[in-house]
Amino acid sequence: MQHASKLPHVGTTIFTIMSALAKAHNAINLSQGFPDFGGDPKLSDLVCKAMNSGYNQYAPMYGNLELRIAIAKKMELLYQTEYHPENEITVTAGATQAIFTIINTFVRLDDEVIIFEPAYDSYEPAVKLNGGKPITVQLEAPDFEVNWNAVREKLSSRTKMIIINTPHNPSGTVFSKDDMLNLQKLTKNTNIIVLSDEVYEHMIYDGEKHQSACLFADLKSRSFVVSSFCKTFHNTGWRIGYCCAPKELMDLFMQVHQFNVFCVHHPTQKGIADYMQEPKHYLELALFYQKKRDLFLSLIQDSRFRFKPSKGTYFQVLDYSQITEEYDVDYARRLTIRSGIASIPLSVFNTNHMDKKILRFCFAKKDDTLKRAAEILNTI
Ligand code: GLN
Repeated sequence: MQHASKLPHVGTTIFTIMSALAKAHNAINLSQGFPDFGGDPKLSDLVCKAMNSGYNQYAPMYGNLELRIAIAKKMELLYQTEYHPENEITVTAGATQAIFTIINTFVRLDDEVIIFEPAYDSYEPAVKLNGGKPITVQLEAPDFEVNWNAVREKLSSRTKMIIINTPHNPSGTVFSKDDMLNLQKLTKNTNIIVLSDEVYEHMIYDGEKHQSACLFADLKSRSFVVSSFCKTFHNTGWRIGYCCAPKELMDLFMQVHQFNVFCVHHPTQKGIADYMQEPKHYLELALFYQKKRDLFLSLIQDSRFRFKPSKGTYFQVLDYSQITEEYDVDYARRLTIRSGIASIPLSVFNTNHMDKKILRFCFAKKDDTLKRAAEILNTI
């Protein structure tokens, strides 16, 4: 039997490749973004408690109501905005499912979707699977700022969606208020859906404020705001996230979501709902990760890698152009195999594979891991 691939140009995701390579060579794994420390035992206890007290059957399709109420409260507290828990918030199997289902709900054959590159690697395959056309706009290193004139030029009558990601993976930059106002202006009076991937919303540094799409009324009216408990509570394997959108958009999303997963793991939802009653559990994250960023950067400040401190996410990009001319994919492999440290090459996030000699390192690691990693980087 022979079957044609629906994604003929897609290989295995770089996160799997680099983590496997790190494991095979016993390298320090700063590639795939996940913590090497556990989450709060209080949260695991609450999930166990939920499991032991009967939260083991289907949750409502939108998600456990207490969790939706907790999310609504959080959106109110952080962004002074209202999403109705009944029909404007849906709990998903990680942010990835939310993203996939949003694209699946709206993108049809030949619809155009604007994507800023370097882009998280799940966006484009999801667009293509639905017959859509990714239209890319390049964010230029080292600041990875958006050229809004370039975006305007790429808008057309076929533009169905714009996908943004702030704080931005992989670059560690953030959208400013002006960026969001530009986006709002460009999409005003259009039918364009904005998919705003905000999974690193709580990891934003140096006193900056996260510019969520929901802070801007007109933008909010066309946006899905996507976030993730996996990143926030240090349990990436739990696969639990959510999205918020105005009812008329969420109604359409639900038509697909109900047949996609129906609902996600119920006891985890109840446990997180209880845990979120204390907002400090997510509000303290910025300081926690800022310390890790600062530790990592202070340790490698005399290395031959060049950097601008990450403004958000738990990733730091390092420029190695002073060290070698090697293609970033090859260099990342060599660093893993020969030097014992794994990272992610940035070119894989560009459809044209443009290589600017930049690697992404995850600093969601124990201080000791960061110290050992820095020791290696300092010898290079
Ligand atoms: N979001 C994670 C990262 O950017 C990876 C997620 C995954 O492996 N699918 O590293």
